[in-house]
Amino acid sequence: MIQLYQARDRIEAQLLKDYLLFHGVECVVLGDFLSGAAGELPAVQFPTIWLVDDVDEARVRQLLDQYQHRAQADGQQAWDCPVCGEHSEGNFDICCNCGAERASS
Ligand SMILES: [Zn+2]
Repeated sequence: MIQLYQARDRIEAQLLKDYLLFHGVECVVLGDFLSGAAGELPAVQFPTIWLVDDVDEARVRQLLDQYQHRAQADGQQAWDCPVCGEHSEGNFDICCNCGAERASS
């Protein structure tokens, strides 16, 4: 497995995982359960996203670039999901309800 990304928190990790799964990329989030055991660990880790199938790496890096680029370019404008109508804050690029992408406008 290859580590793709270190998220700020478990919510971002989950969103990014959903984004990748939406594009057919098999990935897992590790480390988002460690805070409960922090007493036995030297430091609380940030959750990290791991690519399961290494052959996808080049394509997945592109998806990650898109994800990060759009997160910056789109700013903080809130939006409504084009698929299910769920309202999302501007720092989210995919619907937290159904995983659809923000419509580009
Ligand atoms: Zn949705």
